[in-house]
Amino acid sequence: MQRDTAQRRAICRVFEAAKRPLTVSEARASARRHARTLGIATAYRHINELVKDGWLTMVQIPGEPPHYERANLPHHHHFHCQKCQHVFDLAACSGARWLHQMLPPGFTMQSHEIILSGRCSTCSAA
Ligand SMILES: [Zn+2]
Ligand SMILES: [Zn+2]
Repeated sequence: MQRDTAQRRAICRVFEAAKRPLTVSEARASARRHARTLGIATAYRHINELVKDGWLTMVQIPGEPPHYERANLPHHHHFHCQKCQHVFDLAACSGARWLHQMLPPGFTMQSHEIILSGRCSTCSAA
């Protein structure tokens, strides 16, 4: 049980320090620096619990394994690099007004999803 708590804490630390959404295997790879015995099944279980607790949220990119990020981030969107497959956070979204302009008459919008894709700066330079 104690090991479990230490592993969960290691995962939390990774997500607190992360500058972009991470997959379970990326989070596990970083968390292993603090919790060397952390297995992939345990990493999945802790991450699922953190989602249930409302501490993490899932970022879904079509065709990619789920990524996760802190649930308390302000509204923003993501960029998916098609070369390295990393997912990056974009600057805060100023969306609502111009998105409303795309709506057909009589439609109301409750939420929106925007995913940009292409190449990140590292992959563009390579
Ligand atoms: Zn890239
Ligand atoms: Zn938005």
